[in-house]
Amino acid sequence: MGTSGGSRIVSDRYHCQLGRIHVTGSIVLFGPPGAGKGTQAGRISELTGKPQVSTGDMLRSAVAKGTDLGHEAKTFMEAGLLVPDSIIIGLISERLTNDDAANGVLFDGFPRTIPQAEALAEIVSVEAVISIEVPDESIVERIVGRRMDPETGEIYHIHFKPPPEDISARVVQRKDDTEDTVRSRLAAYHEQTAPLAKWYSEQGLLIRIDGNRPIEDVGNSIASML
Ligand code: ADP
Ligand code: ADP
Repeated sequence: MGTSGGSRIVSDRYHCQLGRIHVTGSIVLFGPPGAGKGTQAGRISELTGKPQVSTGDMLRSAVAKGTDLGHEAKTFMEAGLLVPDSIIIGLISERLTNDDAANGVLFDGFPRTIPQAEALAEIVSVEAVISIEVPDESIVERIVGRRMDPETGEIYHIHFKPPPEDISARVVQRKDDTEDTVRSRLAAYHEQTAPLAKWYSEQGLLIRIDGNRPIEDVGNSIASML
């Protein structure tokens, strides 16, 4: 109890400071599947104080819970297709009513279509779009080797970020992280999501980061831009 009272005071002060300098915007992490958005999100969240909002994680949680929304989304996800805009926009609108979203959030994997970005622009102000750029040739290897620790949510890679020995027995592979599905996801990315880079660039918001380097280097570049 004492602790939560204490942190409340600190966070109220923080709000005042933020209020004074009017930091109310959100940040978008943009890039193809497997670019390293989730991998970099924790560090950016820590640096900016903005909570990570991942539509992929929210959808997987709905699928695991077996909600109506989860049932609807599952077929699209397993086929490597984008879930319809109306479902995603509803999910995000609801998420943004949480208190922790008051000073902006870090979007990971959203928006993925122009209509999603237009809907977002109606509800929040986006202050930066960090585009992690990785060529298609590297994507398949990254996706197929991706593993996740179901206990902590930490993302690993069998070669590029191997899980520690005490964790390696429990890591899991996502059902949609197969070579076939990656090809569909990449096609969806190029067709429906990539045009957003130009859209955000025309608004002066796009920050391009070379994502085809070691995890630490990519993180350092992002941190220096922020
Ligand atoms: P990745 O980490 O490969 O980029 P995500 O975890 O972000 O994948 O998303 C997994 C799947 O969830 C996508 O292939 C898609 O079916 C669905 N999805 C996630 N975010 C969105 C979104 N903003 N719009 C439409 N579909 C989405
Ligand atoms: P996204 O969220 O964009 O789909 P992830 O952060 O889940 O991507 O990363 C996809 C896979 O690639 C993971 O297995 C991760 O460990 C690995 N990875 C992420 N960034 C890099 C990098 N810079 N170099 C090599 N592998 C990476």
